[in-house]
Order: sequence, then C-alpha cells, then structure tokens
Amino acid sequence: MQLDDLYRRVIMDHYKNPRNRGKFEEGALTIDLNNPTCGDRISLQLQVEDHVVKNARFTGEGCSISMSSASMMTEAVKGRTVEEALELADRFSSLMKGEPVEFDDYEDIEALSGVNKFPARIKCATLAWNALKKGMEQES
Ligand code: ZN
Repeated sequence: MQLDDLYRRVIMDHYKNPRNRGKFEEGALTIDLNNPTCGDRISLQLQVEDHVVKNARFTGEGCSISMSSASMMTEAVKGRTVEEALELADRFSSLMKGEPVEFDDYEDIEALSGVNKFPARIKCATLAWNALKKGMEQES
C-alpha cells in the first residue's frame, strides 16, 4: 500500500468515526473557532485539572481534514500538561510547514503531513490546534 493511501484511510477513519465527539455536561473550558475560507466550525471543550488536560471533546462541522484533525488532536492531548499540549501544538505547526517531525506518541497525526502541499487546506488542519492553543493560553 502506498503511504498516501494509508494516510487517506487514517484521515477518513477519523472523519467517519470521530473520537471524542460531543459535549461535557459541565465544568469545561469551551473554545469556538471557525475557518471562513472553508466553512469549518469547531467548538472544543477541555477539562483541565491541576494543569493537566483530563479530557477533551469537540462538536462542529466541516471538511474531512478539519474534522479528522480535531478527532486526532482531542485523542492526543488527553493526559498532557498545559506545557506538553502547547509543545504538541507547536510540533503540529512544524508538520504543516513540511518539517520532518514525528508523533511517536500518536502516529495517526502524521497522516495529515501531506496537507502542507495544499496551502488552502492548512487552515482546515490547524483549526482544532489553534483552538487548543487558545484554551491552553487561558490556563497558563
Ligand atoms: Zn476545511
């Protein structure tokens, strides 16, 4: 199987079976962001306790890139400290610049590496991560 095909499968799996989709009943930090160029919208919720992201959920709608990225991000960020979450978001920015970064801790994210070749889609992929950064900045 070609790497591109594998990556496409990973992206479509997260799009069709999103992880952590939904809302918390209470006690969560909520960040709403949208990407007008594509029409993607996300409402990210983070439960942060003692400087650690205990849990994350999201709702929203948009293209497969934006929604799969949100699914991956919410999965990868659980259990991280605020600093670790910001480091993860920085690493994702590097990935979008085409830099050779690895996500040994959550390999699915690497499926989005091809997006850097399509500048118009980078905003789709980074939407959830920008929401994460905004939330973490409020906590730090
Ligand atoms: Zn999009």
